[in-house]
Order: sequence, then C-alpha cells, then structure tokens
Amino acid sequence: MLIDTHSHLNFNGFKDDAHQVIGRCLAEDIWLINIGTNLVTSQKAVELATKYNQGVYAAVGLHPISLDTGLVKIKAEEDDFLEKEFAYEKYKELAQDSKVVALGEIGLDYWYKPKAKSKRPEFKKRQKDLFVQQLNLAEELSLPVIIHCRLAFDDLLEVVSSKTPKGVIHCFSGTWQQAQEFLDLGFYIGFNGIIFKLELDEVIKKMPANRILVETDCPYLTPPQEEGRNEPLFIKHVVQKIANVRGESFAEISEVSTQNARSLFEI
Ligand SMILES: [Zn+2]
Repeated sequence: MLIDTHSHLNFNGFKDDAHQVIGRCLAEDIWLINIGTNLVTSQKAVELATKYNQGVYAAVGLHPISLDTGLVKIKAEEDDFLEKEFAYEKYKELAQDSKVVALGEIGLDYWYKPKAKSKRPEFKKRQKDLFVQQLNLAEELSLPVIIHCRLAFDDLLEVVSSKTPKGVIHCFSGTWQQAQEFLDLGFYIGFNGIIFKLELDEVIKKMPANRILVETDCPYLTPPQEEGRNEPLFIKHVVQKIANVRGESFAEISEVSTQNARSLFEI
C-alpha cells in the first residue's frame, strides 16, 4: 500500500476523468490526499473525497500564489482564482468536513516578487500574515498543515519556529541543513518527482525513515519514466528512487512512508 500525500485531482487537468484515475489508484491500493489551493479547488477536493468511504481525503487552504496582493502580477496557474484575503470562516466550515485531514497547501512563495524593491517588504508581509492566519485555523481545529515553500526558507523558518505547527514540508528541494531545521521542529518531509530533477540524494540518504512522506504533486512533476500528465500511480517511481538511494527495499519505503502518512493525517 502507498499514500500519495499531495495530489491535485481537483484541478482542471483531471476534470474529465478524476474518478477513473481514483478508481485505478484504489485498485492498486494507493490512497491519496487532494490538496486545495483556493476556495474553489478546496471545495472540489472535499467533494471528491466525500464520494469514497476510504482512501480519498482532502486538504483545504489558500496557496500563497493565490493571494491577490495587488503588488505583483501573478501568472495564475490553471486552477487558481485569486483571493484578496483569507476567508477564515468559509475555510473553517470546509475544514470541518470529516474527510479533511489537513490545512494546505499554505506557506510562502517569493517566486513572483514585485519588480520594485520598495514593494517587496509589503508583499512578503501579506504572505506571512496569510500564512499565520491559516496556522491559527489549523491550531483551532487541531489539524496538521501541508507547507509550500519556494525561495522563502528563512522567513518560513521564522514563522514556523514561533507557531510550531504539526505537518509536512511538501516538495522538499532544499539542503540537508535546511531539512534538519524542519526535522528539529518535528516536521515530516515530502518527496516527489523533483528528486529526479534536483540533487537531493544527500537529504534522502540522511533522512530518518520515520519522517519520510511520498507524494506526486500531480498533474505536475511527472517522473522521467512516464510521459505527459503526472498521476498518483506514478508515485511508485519516487518510492523506488528513495529505496535505491537509501539501499533499502521498495517494500520498506512503502511501509514506512504509509505508516508516517497514516500517523500524521490520522487516516
Ligand atoms: Zn501542490
């Protein structure tokens, strides 16, 4: 059994066949968590999950790139509807559905920063405020968080050091030193197809097994063994690579990562 802890079957890339894709996963004993990025995709993640008794779960949240700060022109991804502020009560209501296992994906993303340097502090502050609001909601509901971090390591570390949420750093792409900072705070680390693009072998090798999570981030980050849209089934390539790098078996990584996911998300 495997658990894809970060998939987006709630995105347009799967609008015609999400249920077929889920059917294929469940037949292979692969469970998954669909992750929201705004109110629309969060709602869809919940709708998908409620159709299944077991094996399909949801996370709800406002991705930092889906925040409309008015300070930067964001190239919205296909499913991103920008929101001017965090609708705390609406997200709270959604997050109380029994199929919601986490708040996410939330965090900081400084990729699309304002051109004018003078606007950057305000831009970063808006994202940090959004992040803190969502950490507060997670705390209120006793839910773990799924964290997205791009080009914002120092600021993110500062926020999570003071709030100490329980959760995962998804799509990890940093150094071993950075990974250690998150591990010291109790976080799990999520690995996906990015391990085929970036040099992450040292991190993978040194990771304590009881903090490893696996994910696809589908439809993005297709492993090189496959073509086109990524799918939760392709998680096996990520598991195999982690096993190879650590000198462990596919079965061992499957078992420990599944246990970790079940314990963090209480599924
Ligand atoms: Zn994602």
